[in-house]
Amino acid sequence: MKPIEQLPFVRAWFDQRRVLVVGLGKSGVAAASLLARLGARVAVTEKKDRSNCLSWVRQLPASVQLETGAHRLLQRDWDLAVVSPGVPAEVGNSFREKGVPVWGELELAYRVLVLADRWPAWSAAITGTNGKTTTTSLMGAIFRAAGRNTVVAGNIGVPLCAVINDVRSDGAVALEVSSYQLETAEAFRPAGGVVLNVTPDHLARHGTMAAYARTKFRLFQSQQPADAAILNSQDPWCRTLAPTVHGRVHWFNDRISRPWKTPRYLPGRHNVANAMAAAVCARALGVPDTAIARALAAFRGVEHRLEPVRTWRGVRFINDSKATNVDSTRVALDSLPGPLFIILGGEDKGAPYGPLIPLLKKKAKEILLIGEATPKIAKELAGAAPQVVCGTLAKAVQHAASSAQPGDTLLLSPACASFDQFDNFEHRGRCFKKEVGLLP
Ligand code: ADP
Repeated sequence: MKPIEQLPFVRAWFDQRRVLVVGLGKSGVAAASLLARLGARVAVTEKKDRSNCLSWVRQLPASVQLETGAHRLLQRDWDLAVVSPGVPAEVGNSFREKGVPVWGELELAYRVLVLADRWPAWSAAITGTNGKTTTTSLMGAIFRAAGRNTVVAGNIGVPLCAVINDVRSDGAVALEVSSYQLETAEAFRPAGGVVLNVTPDHLARHGTMAAYARTKFRLFQSQQPADAAILNSQDPWCRTLAPTVHGRVHWFNDRISRPWKTPRYLPGRHNVANAMAAAVCARALGVPDTAIARALAAFRGVEHRLEPVRTWRGVRFINDSKATNVDSTRVALDSLPGPLFIILGGEDKGAPYGPLIPLLKKKAKEILLIGEATPKIAKELAGAAPQVVCGTLAKAVQHAASSAQPGDTLLLSPACASFDQFDNFEHRGRCFKKEVGLLP
């Protein structure tokens, strides 16, 4: 199969177009590289200084013009702007006011694939506050079990632009889509779109819950009646916004009518919901049930999501570093048996911690606090369980190791972002696993 950048009708569209990529990160690099290969005249503007984004700078093709430490290029004339997730909404709006189309990296990849006639019939896009990565991985596993050449990409860590030549029209794509990416989605049209849940997160960016929920439902804006919208019947926002979708609505929930053992690597009701969402989406696209069943049975979970790390002197250590908001920590507490020690804290995201109180009262022996959010969490969770201010992950692990009894669990499920002490949640999870591995 010819690489997309060699297809004349795709090149004809991008040739000599002046495109500004705003924001230099993983998706900015992927978008700029693809655009340059397609013949566009590409520039990238990044507010950070060059020294703070060198690893990305090195990955840019030489033909791409680069501005760092300033955004002067925003003022020039462009034919197209490609904005990275997280770039302030005003930037996109100022282009739109001038009549310049604003796409995200995902929208760009989608349009290129459609131009190339390679957008597959089996296309699933998964969004939601929590469970996206797990469900997207499951979806990919199901497509593979059905024998299709499958690309798993998006917010999961691989920009679609970066793997665009792996997509085949007779294959499948499973895409994890964040609400940031949906802000700049327009033509993007997955045959199966999934909204897993809408609970408080990223409110600093989206303002109100209603605005956040509406952004998630942009997933369906270009769907047609033949497409499928897979929605959570237990989620109030899904129920409220269901009438706004154009595709056929398929409901899922975490209730199972007959005893159904969740696969060992998918513990908890929330994973029943994730598995159901993937299965319902797969069915809506026409994937055979046998492939769905095989993929679910063989699934081995995803790193940093309720990941069993070690059993040490009868104490179980669980890494749920990906729990960066209150609801994901709530489901972790719900999924695991007590008694447990829980490490909470990090960079606060503005949502209340109160919803954790009932489960903490029931299961927690102690709350071990780390990071910046310590005073806020200490105050809001007063009385839920004894608190120990540990400061760092290392101290928290040592404290739990010296206090826990056989049968207890130490859970890292911090309900906060990691950026106060770590590069990202993966870094935090790896540090946790390292500390746990060092116990004698
Ligand atoms: P995302 O990609 O949306 O962040 P992940 O699959 O990485 O989702 O899971 C993130 C966190 O949320 C983990 O701590 C996980 O245990 C929890 N989680 C997973 N699925 C759900 C769900 N359906 N509802 C609530 N929490 C969930």
